[in-house]
Amino acid sequence: MTRITRDQFVRRYQGDELNIEQAQQGEGGRRLQQAGMGAEQLHQADLNGDGKIQGTRELQELFRKVDAYDSNGSSRSFDTETRTGRTTQAGKVVSALDIMFAANNPQVEGFHINRPVGPGQANRSSDVRAVQSRLRELGFDIGVDGDWGNQTKNALEVYEAMLRGRSDSSDMRGVLRPGSDLHRVMASPDAPKWSRMPNRGPGFVNGDRDGYSYGSEKLAAVVQEAGQSYHDNYLRTHPGASVMDLNDASVRNGGDNRDHSTHESGLDLDIRLPRTDGGSGTQVGYRNYDRDAAYAMVEALASNPEVERVLLTDSTLRRMARNNNEPWAGKVQDGGRTHRDHIHVDIFPPESALSPS
Ligand SMILES: [Zn+2]
Repeated sequence: MTRITRDQFVRRYQGDELNIEQAQQGEGGRRLQQAGMGAEQLHQADLNGDGKIQGTRELQELFRKVDAYDSNGSSRSFDTETRTGRTTQAGKVVSALDIMFAANNPQVEGFHINRPVGPGQANRSSDVRAVQSRLRELGFDIGVDGDWGNQTKNALEVYEAMLRGRSDSSDMRGVLRPGSDLHRVMASPDAPKWSRMPNRGPGFVNGDRDGYSYGSEKLAAVVQEAGQSYHDNYLRTHPGASVMDLNDASVRNGGDNRDHSTHESGLDLDIRLPRTDGGSGTQVGYRNYDRDAAYAMVEALASNPEVERVLLTDSTLRRMARNNNEPWAGKVQDGGRTHRDHIHVDIFPPESALSPS
């Protein structure tokens, strides 16, 4: 025996819409009629009369229509199967509605899900599997087992946060609905990817040792570009100076981490401060802090159009940038107490990004 509660019913179709006239013409409409439900009942559930069933109130009303076929004695649930495993009339109505809702909410090419995936959603095994394997293709190291769980939830939240330009992925709901903007971006052949930060290149090395070497592919590209620019504009003429020494970006699959409240969605990066002996790792105000090299690094980063903001607690450096009328000076902000020993960089979200929501 399988029971569907009213809340489960609403969640099943939440976020989708059913165009009543259109839906009756297909296979779902035919099956609905066979099960004994007609257009009239659908129209009665369309409380605002716009020809569509959509939203919590109308879905609750639709639930009442389905529950009228049920005899389990509760107005809060209905049974889709009998004790002996036969499909009930309410069960037949629901499977017809499943087809109608799916037909009305067209698939996105290449990456199909039928029902919403996320906390409290339908989370059909085939849909969860599709989401997991797409997230793997997009760079996340997660299993593909069809079970909705924390690993999948985290990766989906991180991916959405990355697209929306949010450093804290716990702000995201982690819900993927068929045909949504998020679904379309994820399905597109050039969907932004998650990746490992590069180990080294002109002007930079990756000195991270504690697992913070992951982020958006775009952050990796910004590092390469800024490193190249620092190399060409400064290191070439100051061969003894420190290279840009990357420290924390995000952890393996992004999300919560021990050391930061941000750095969760692959859009943040820390860089150790250059020392006058050519090494790295010091603080503003220490005698071995190489302000000239730091200035050149900040310039390479802040003048990159993809960089949104640079934090460094060095008021002298910021004043110099303003006095020099550097076009990027406005991007460099005071990092307060926590940014005395590193340059923190935030980049804009990848192209095709979603609105910040
Ligand atoms: Zn930081």
